Amino acid sequence: GDTVGILGGGQLGRMMATAAAALGLKTHIFCPDEDAPAYDVAAARTIAAYDDEAALERFARAVDVVTYEFENVPGRTASVLARLVPLRPGALCLATAQDRIAEKSFVADLGIGTAPFRAVDGEADLAEALEALGAPAILKTRRFGYDGKGQVRIGPGDRPKDAHAELGGAPAILEGFVAFSKEISIIAARGADGAFAAYEPCLNEHRGGILHRTSLPAGIPDALADKAIAAARRIAEALDYVGVITVEMFVVDGDEDILVNEIAPRVHNSGHWTIEGAETSQFEQHIRAVCGWPLGSTRRRGEVEMINLIGDEIGTWPAILAEPGAHLHHYGKANARPGRKMGHVTRVVPHR
Ligand code: ATP
Ligand code: MG
Ligand code: MG
Repeated sequence: GDTVGILGGGQLGRMMATAAAALGLKTHIFCPDEDAPAYDVAAARTIAAYDDEAALERFARAVDVVTYEFENVPGRTASVLARLVPLRPGALCLATAQDRIAEKSFVADLGIGTAPFRAVDGEADLAEALEALGAPAILKTRRFGYDGKGQVRIGPGDRPKDAHAELGGAPAILEGFVAFSKEISIIAARGADGAFAAYEPCLNEHRGGILHRTSLPAGIPDALADKAIAAARRIAEALDYVGVITVEMFVVDGDEDILVNEIAPRVHNSGHWTIEGAETSQFEQHIRAVCGWPLGSTRRRGEVEMINLIGDEIGTWPAILAEPGAHLHHYGKANARPGRKMGHVTRVVPHR
C-alpha cells in the first residue's frame, strides 16, 4: 500500500505530508477543521469530527497505515482505527503521553528521573502535595496542556486554592520546581523492526511558555548527551514504539544529569531544524518508520538554529526570504492570532 493516513491537519501534518510525497507516497488527512494547513499538500482529506465512527471507518479503509500529529487523539478514535488498520505509534503510546500522571509514573518506573510530582484532584490533595513538595511548585492540568497553557506557578506566598481555581479545578498534577540550567529534547525514531536512531540533543529556549528557538550543538557534555539518548531509547522500547518520538528534558546538577519533563508521541517543533540541518528530516524519518521502511541517517549537517515565527512575527517573511542561507517555512495560516505558530526559519552553518 502507498497511502498514509494522518489524524490532524496542522503544520506538523503538512510537513509530514510533504515528506511523504517526496518518497512517492500519498497522504490522507483526517481533521475536523475546514481550512487545515495540511490539506494543501495532501492527496485526500476527510473533514469530520474525531468521534464520527462512520467517517473513521471509511478513512481506515482508504489508507494503509494511520499516524497522527497530535497526542490528544481520543482513546475511542484510536481503538476504532486500530481494529481496521495499523495505528503507529500504538494506543499505549497515546494513553501514556496524554496524561501527565501516567507519563511521569511510566518514566519513573523505568528508573529515569522526573520532577517530583503528586496527583491533585481536590483542595485537600493540593495542600498535602504542596506540603510534600514545597514552593515554588507548578500546578498543571493532567491533560490537554500545550505551549504552557493549563499551568500555574505557585510561589511561597501564593494561595494554592487560587491556583487550582485558575485551572478550573480540573484534575491536575503538582510538580516540584526544577532549577534546570538548560532545556533539551531528544528526537528519535524506532522502526517497525525495532531499529533505533536518535538525533543529537537540541537546546530549546522558550518565551512566554512557547518554544522560541532550538539550536545545535546543545553545548552539553558528550556523556550527558549519551545518557539522554539512552533514556529516550528505553522509553521508546518500553512503549514498543514505532515512529518519531520526542522526549523533553531538563539539564540539572551542573550538566551532569537529566530529568524527563514530557513525552510527545510524534514529530515535534524542536525537530524542525532537521529539515535542512540533518541528513534525514524528522518528517521523512517518521514516514519511513510508520511505513515499515529502514530509518535514515540522523547526522547533523552543521551548526543549526531554528526560530519560530509566532503571531505577527510572520510579517518578517520578506526579510527572511532576502537573507542568503535562511530557510523560510510559512504554514499558510490565514489568521496570525497572538501566540499562534505561523512559520519558522532555519539557518545552517555547514561543517567545514
Ligand atoms: P509543550 O508546548 O512543550 O507541550 P506544555 O504546555 O505541555 O509544553 P511543559 O513542557 O510541561 O508544558 O512546560 C512548559 C515549560 O514550563 C517547560 O518547557 C519549562 O520551561 C517550564 N516547566 C515545566 N515544568 C517545570 C518544572 N517542574 N520545573 C521548572 N520549570 C518547568
Ligand atoms: Mg506538552
Ligand atoms: Mg513541553
